[in-house]
Amino acid sequence: MGINFCGEKDRLIHVMACDDTLRGIAVQHGQMAAQMVRAVDAGPLAAEALCQSVGAVMMMAALLKDRQQVGLQINGDGPLGEIYAVSDARLHVRASIAGLHAEAPSMAEGIGTGRLKVIRKLDEYEPAYTGIIELEQSEIAGDLARYFVQSEQIPTALALGETLSPDGVTAAGGFLIQALPGVKDRDLDQMIERIQNFGPLSQHLDQSPEAILKQLLPDHHIVEEQKPCFYCPCSRELFARRLVSLGEKDLRELADEEQTEVLCHFCGTRYQFDQQQMRALLLGAQIHDEYHPQAKTTK
Ligand SMILES: [Zn+2]
Repeated sequence: MGINFCGEKDRLIHVMACDDTLRGIAVQHGQMAAQMVRAVDAGPLAAEALCQSVGAVMMMAALLKDRQQVGLQINGDGPLGEIYAVSDARLHVRASIAGLHAEAPSMAEGIGTGRLKVIRKLDEYEPAYTGIIELEQSEIAGDLARYFVQSEQIPTALALGETLSPDGVTAAGGFLIQALPGVKDRDLDQMIERIQNFGPLSQHLDQSPEAILKQLLPDHHIVEEQKPCFYCPCSRELFARRLVSLGEKDLRELADEEQTEVLCHFCGTRYQFDQQQMRALLLGAQIHDEYHPQAKTTK
């Protein structure tokens, strides 16, 4: 099961300009975002958060190599709850929003106050590296740009935008511009002026990523072009293992039910386990607990 959806129009472009001292990345992911929103049946505010978190994490992932992964996790006290998006270097991305039907007058109020985390897994054998900042604007693009400046010392401009209709997402995109060591003041000033003149990204979402980068960094060369995909690797086996890891006590309660249904929060796939299957998992948990007496977790 799981999902692997690649929208034919979805694209990410990575460019360099001004003797490789300015980096530009632009993404267009409206088709993928529309599919993600449909898969989990997200309301309008959650749909916006999904579009933005996915756009942001993909632009970070465009700088990864090989088996590296990056996650963006926003934990605010607003009705949206936890927002989480994760991508690998191939731009296989998935995202989940806790408050799928949250309502609030603005995204900032939907998110509330809390923290933004960037979780980088640079090597599959090494523990993940996590950078954290407090949310100030409670707005994904602004807070993530501040994260880059504060935690990674990279001056960054970041914009994310989407358009929604009653039927769902009609467009989604973003751009990220970073100033690297050695950048000339004149180049930086010109770039900032172009971004100011550009206006809100939501008015440019009908343009291609190239066209957007052409306006922000006119003399660029393309480093890489990638196709992002909505990819969820979930499976029945994966959820069976998760159920076993709940431990004997919780599993025993579930095994009393006629049917247990588990929902994947990333792709909306539902997995059903009947009583007989749950009892088999319970047996697995008993063996697991016996051999791993320290590993009793209720996560
Ligand atoms: Zn899934």
